[in-house]
Amino acid sequence: MAEVDGSDALAAAHVPFINCEELVRIYKIADLEVFALQGLDLQVEQGEMMAIIGNSGSGKSTLLNILGGIDRPTAGRVSVGGKDLLKLARAQMLRYRRDDVGFVWQNPARNLVPYLTVLQNVELPMLLAGRPSTEGRRWASELVESVGLAHRRHHHLVELSMGEQQRVAIAIGLANRPALLLADEPTGSVDNANAQAILEVFARINGDYRTTIIIVTHDVRVSSYVNRVVGIRDGKTSVEFLRQPADAVWSGEGGPAPAEEKGAHQEFVMLDRAGRLQLPHEFVEALALKRRVRVVLEDDHIVVRPQEQDIPPRDPVERGA
Ligand code: ADP
Ligand code: MG
Repeated sequence: MAEVDGSDALAAAHVPFINCEELVRIYKIADLEVFALQGLDLQVEQGEMMAIIGNSGSGKSTLLNILGGIDRPTAGRVSVGGKDLLKLARAQMLRYRRDDVGFVWQNPARNLVPYLTVLQNVELPMLLAGRPSTEGRRWASELVESVGLAHRRHHHLVELSMGEQQRVAIAIGLANRPALLLADEPTGSVDNANAQAILEVFARINGDYRTTIIIVTHDVRVSSYVNRVVGIRDGKTSVEFLRQPADAVWSGEGGPAPAEEKGAHQEFVMLDRAGRLQLPHEFVEALALKRRVRVVLEDDHIVVRPQEQDIPPRDPVERGA
């Protein structure tokens, strides 16, 4: 795994492996400003495998590109493994991109060279990074085996299915032993069986190498393979789904357990540093909440009520069902 910069990493307080605070990314097209990220907070621990789920346009790829050092935020803070990504100079950023992170894209072709074999494709990033070839070859073989393609090692990419190509792309993403693997819609172009195979590969990699893995997706199938799912909406993390701790002992060894054996996720709403939270849309609609609400502290909970003149006459509504 890539080394963490010892000088910054061992700060006294616990800093999560990935720490995003109030990330903002604004794209400017002519006079138009697009807020792709609007004050996003996210913390991920080393060795965690988690998913970020959100609709198209919610800012998922923008976030991954920032974490991968491909893009820079307009404002906010972002650090990975003790490295402040906003402070890295160009050359440091290139090294970060090469050594510290691996990328898996929705379209595997983006990672693959068609005229090379599976094994050669996986060796290529190591050759480019100037790594010794014998060690590289051994590691490439191990990775090809790890993604379940040992029997295909000498095949060319045209001979592989889309799902198999995606598994090669995962091996390539891991070639330089990154501490962090970022996957952008990795199951977007494959069928159910292949999606399952790909997610099992991620779980195995996470268990075997302790690689921190973030899978960005709108595919809900992914959630049964991770203990934590963060929901992203309008460029902000809004909800979080956590598996009960009793079920979280599952380590990823021997492949993922079926969802029903691991227990369901519990849903939480995210509270940001300033104490803001986003109420579920359906709750806001059910009570026709407008600009002002009453917030009342009770013994062990907080009540949110419509402003009196806003209360519409209505039938009782069953909520949280
Ligand atoms: P997702 O991956 O969740 O579909 P993106 O991060 O790609 O979302 O996009 C978030 C928002 O930012 C969208 O409104 C998108 O149109 C806009 N956006 C993304 N990349 C660019 C870009 N390079 N230039 C302008 N707008 C962009
Ligand atoms: Mg995207």
